[in-house]
Amino acid sequence: MVSVTDDVSTPTTIRSNWAGNLEYRAARLLRPTTLEEVREAVTAGGPVRAVGSRHCFNDIADTTGTHLSLESFEPVDASTLTVDTDADGATTVTVSGGARYGDLATALYAHGYAMPNLASLPHISVAGAIATATHGSGVTNQGLGGAVVALEIVTATGEVLTVRRGDGAAETSGDAGSGAAAGSAGAAELDADVDSAPLPFDAAVVHLGALGIVTRVTLAVEPTFDVRQDVFVDLPWESFERDADAVLGAAYSVSVFTTWRDNAMDQVWLKSRVDEIGTRPGGALALGEDFHGARRSPVPLHPLPGISAESCTEQLGVAGPAHERLAHFKMDFTPSNGDELQSEYIVPREHAVAAVAAVRALREQIVPLLQVTEIRTMAADGFWLSPSGAQDSVGIHFTWLQRQPEVEALLPVIEAALAPFDARPHWGKLFTTDAARLAELYPRLPELRALAARLDPEGVLRNDYLDRVLG
Ligand SMILES: Cc1cc2nc3c(=O)[nH]c(=O)nc-3n(C[C@H](O)[C@H](O)[C@H](O)COP(=O)(O)OP(=O)(O)OC[C@H]3O[C@@H](n4cnc5c(N)ncnc54)[C@H](O)[C@@H]3O)c2cc1C
Repeated sequence: MVSVTDDVSTPTTIRSNWAGNLEYRAARLLRPTTLEEVREAVTAGGPVRAVGSRHCFNDIADTTGTHLSLESFEPVDASTLTVDTDADGATTVTVSGGARYGDLATALYAHGYAMPNLASLPHISVAGAIATATHGSGVTNQGLGGAVVALEIVTATGEVLTVRRGDGAAETSGDAGSGAAAGSAGAAELDADVDSAPLPFDAAVVHLGALGIVTRVTLAVEPTFDVRQDVFVDLPWESFERDADAVLGAAYSVSVFTTWRDNAMDQVWLKSRVDEIGTRPGGALALGEDFHGARRSPVPLHPLPGISAESCTEQLGVAGPAHERLAHFKMDFTPSNGDELQSEYIVPREHAVAAVAAVRALREQIVPLLQVTEIRTMAADGFWLSPSGAQDSVGIHFTWLQRQPEVEALLPVIEAALAPFDARPHWGKLFTTDAARLAELYPRLPELRALAARLDPEGVLRNDYLDRVLG
């Protein structure tokens, strides 16, 4: 039976998002434990919205109706996890959409496997993360959706669909590069296309929760590998400006943190795969004392100045399992309800230096509201609504103080400064980019809207966020 919690007895920690800047308006929270219970919940009458681990900073997960959490749906456990080899020889696991990456990675390690990459926080849910194009870093690493091989989706009408990598690629171009033509198709033509076509995989991975409830996700995994994490401080701005590619590509995953000080960027975190450190161009710099003019930190550091590093994953170049190094923060360290807000803008990597310079020119407005900025990279993928769709990208992220009105007043200024680079906002963080501009940035957005209308004709999954973003 579906467990029901009414709004009176639900703890406030579940009623709000992780950062506490948003009180969800959901009238009830259901925690289905079977596929049938998910189907019952979506067909019982809307509105309905899936909620993951509640780490988004905007109202993407909000609803006035039913919140559906998959936290009790097939919890991840090393004793029940099965690693499969599919027909193409790929090694995969299938987990609940509600699984948290940290639990999955720990269970996988027990089987001798690893996820290829992780976001900074391991506590986020798989379905919630891929729905918003959540990413880690690495010039050769796609966002977390890049590991998805198949999705099981319960649509708003209760239909259960399985979408596999490659599905829909013949009917649609499958890459965002040809999206302009599709995006300019007339509405009637578009409707005819989506009525007859199967659900394209490249539409279904980054879907903003608009296509259905993702109950199971099949992910490609690889044999476990070791990573060492080396942190350097005070990277001269000139080093970044001279050769950003060398800085950002020096390890499997690189993060540059800056508080926009005049003389230097604050920290560079190099997460190096031990099995490739000798062959990656510039990779050996992780072993030395100097990294493009930055000094090796002799002590572990938190990205935020003056904060203890006890919540951070192992540093000082000590090699160990990938899942204990690729995230910035430890899984067994319960993050406090974050006293922060976040925004992030993603631009083609070729514009990294110019885009960072455009933001740096605003530093007098940014710094009073900022905790820290993080610069990371993502390899191109083919997902219609992925900010790194069809383009190798760099993300310029802002961890803000919790002063939301002031932050929201500043975001249009940053967005205007980044407009020449066609900056795409992170779907799960704060942004003010409107539907018209998003449609320019994502030529296939009209097709996604048409697919959502086909799969959810009554608008059961719609919320204010989707109305604003999809138009
Ligand atoms: C401290 C912190 C660190 C972060 N670090 C990173 C980072 O390194 N990289 C990055 O890119 N982002 C990062 N983020 C942002 C975060 O990863 C994303 O916002 C992500 O979407 C959070 O996943 P969630 O499970 O909490 O999603 P939620 O906020 O719960 O939901 C997000 C969306 O997913 C949908 N959804 C959830 N579950 C399902 C389901 N089963 N089926 C269908 N739709 C579903 C919801 O309806 C909603 O639309 C960070 C956030 C925080 C708070």
